[in-house]
Amino acid sequence: MPAYPDSMRKILETYVRAVATKEFTVDGRTLMPPDELWLSSSFFRGFECVDKCGGCCPHFTLDYFHGARRTREMIDTVSGERLEDRRIEVNGRPFWYLSDQQKDHKDPHCRNLNKIDGRCGIYPVRPLSCSFEPTIKFISHGLHQIGVSRVVVTKRPFGRAWNMLRIDGGRGAMCEWPERTDLDAVEFRDIPLLIELMKLCTSLDIPTHLFALIQHVREALLVLREGNDLRWQWGGKSTILIASN
Ligand code: SF4
Repeated sequence: MPAYPDSMRKILETYVRAVATKEFTVDGRTLMPPDELWLSSSFFRGFECVDKCGGCCPHFTLDYFHGARRTREMIDTVSGERLEDRRIEVNGRPFWYLSDQQKDHKDPHCRNLNKIDGRCGIYPVRPLSCSFEPTIKFISHGLHQIGVSRVVVTKRPFGRAWNMLRIDGGRGAMCEWPERTDLDAVEFRDIPLLIELMKLCTSLDIPTHLFALIQHVREALLVLREGNDLRWQWGGKSTILIASN
């Protein structure tokens, strides 16, 4: 079982909580935002997803949000009949979305994973949570000794990548992390993803630091595209404070 078999909860408890400006509740449970949100220079690093892996595609719910482009295209181009209405309570109000819970699918991997090449069979319209994986991470640090909790937005392998089930039955994700930046991926994949997350937070009525985060990512992109070193720009550091609550 993946750590988060329910991807809606993963989005709310990991991504939204990381960027929220104040606490919110999910089905009555209070989620506290971190005291500080940081951006790491590692957010701009390159990444390669290789064939015949499939480690980051276990069996979890595939959740789609009303009004999102990928939801319309999923229904139009692939198949919407497996999507059912689900609801979750956010700040005491019902939030409805569409979900394929894969209850009829008994394999440990997602039903959309091609078990021959290890690639997603619905890649252009895969859910938002899949699009954040396996690269963008919101890493929480509870710095109790100084009384500050911190989230760092970065790119790095899964913490338990060594245990992920591949399509060949072996364990260990095969992601490659070359020593280079990938600025096009940041501009054309990561920033649109952050904007999509911001739209979701707006529809949930949860205020976030996402606008400030996206602005910092754009500014850093300009620095890197001009051939300059981010550390020089960030006062010799590899991370920069985006906002504090
Ligand atoms: S929808 Fe695609 S990317 Fe998401 S888990 Fe399934 S196979 Fe993987």
